Amino acid sequence: MFTLTAGIALPAVAFNLFGKQAARGEGSADAPAAKTEATKMVRVKVIGPDGQLTGPVEMAKLVLSDEEWQKRLTPEQFAIVRAKGTERAFCGTLLDNKKHGYYVCVACGLPLFNSSAKFNSGTGWPSFFQPVAEENILEETDTSHGMKRTEIMCARCDGHLGHVFPDGPKPTGLRYCLNSESLRFVDEADVKTLAENVPAAAAAPTVGKWLPAPAKDTALAAESTEAKAVFAGGCFWCTEAVFEAIDGVKDVVSGYSGGDPKRADYKSVCTGTTGHAEGIQITYDASKVTYGQLLRIFFATHNPTTINRQGPDSGTQYRSEIFYTGEEQKAVAEAYIQQLTDAKKFSKPIVTEVEPLNGFFPAEDYHQDFARQNPEHPYIKRWAEPKLEKLQEMLKDTEAEKQAQ
Ligand SMILES: [Zn+2]
Repeated sequence: MFTLTAGIALPAVAFNLFGKQAARGEGSADAPAAKTEATKMVRVKVIGPDGQLTGPVEMAKLVLSDEEWQKRLTPEQFAIVRAKGTERAFCGTLLDNKKHGYYVCVACGLPLFNSSAKFNSGTGWPSFFQPVAEENILEETDTSHGMKRTEIMCARCDGHLGHVFPDGPKPTGLRYCLNSESLRFVDEADVKTLAENVPAAAAAPTVGKWLPAPAKDTALAAESTEAKAVFAGGCFWCTEAVFEAIDGVKDVVSGYSGGDPKRADYKSVCTGTTGHAEGIQITYDASKVTYGQLLRIFFATHNPTTINRQGPDSGTQYRSEIFYTGEEQKAVAEAYIQQLTDAKKFSKPIVTEVEPLNGFFPAEDYHQDFARQNPEHPYIKRWAEPKLEKLQEMLKDTEAEKQAQ
């Protein structure tokens, strides 16, 4: 029995996405199974009724037995998507496809890649520099065949897609290496055939799309009091720029934390062997902004679910970490992570570490105020600017939230 539709209602046309297999399943695939206690949910972006990518929306994972998958997929598709095989290089049908449109999961129809991110990697497999949405792809370390690689899977059905490597082109520097058999191409003229019924709230996001304010927070100080917070959330050029924009923040310094104090300089930290994270030390007025409010911005402007990676940067120095200066900060940080986890605000588990601050080492002068000094730097344009835009939007919305209360 087909269980995809628990929690959502798929239009009948979506069932055509099973291609060759659709005919076989005819007549038996239409009744949605009742949602059970065990239904696993996932937050992904889908094509809405208007043909636009929308969400993320919460929906049930597609969980089937091997036997059921064998009925739905061709033997070739099953060998790759369910048994994690790899097709031979230069043999896939989508390698040279130059048409415009979406590449969707062959097993469940989730949009995964768009032709706008496809490039010729010369490897013999379809290659993309980014997925349509980070939420739609799961990553897992794969140590098979004596190699250490990052496997990529469809977030809705866990189908094997291929691997992602850090040697792709700009702007992401990533190469998503796909099996043609894992994908189905949908021409942009036919994009509406992918439309799924999306709850209206998801299609038109409101202020509720932002992370909630921390339920447990430090109280605002009665009078102007200087306090410090140290966060690591990827390249400090970007995180510094974000917090510089916050009311009540007096100073933000880029630097290193959490490693060997004797080797805290950019060159050593770049090697990824000193144990440091690139971080920022925020000096703020505790009578104007709370630690919890800073945490909320921190979580809203970096990805706390990727281990040792932010955007294009990978290595332990780009881990997500909170360095607390006292027990109160620790308690607020841990409670907020739990709150976000319970509210399922991220599609993957939060991996942010919470550790006591053990020294903060300011970075070399040329790293300070980098985004402000180098607004045209391609890295800043690609990575810091979108963060700042998102932040401005969030601040505007949360201000409206406050007014409405
Ligand atoms: Zn899938």
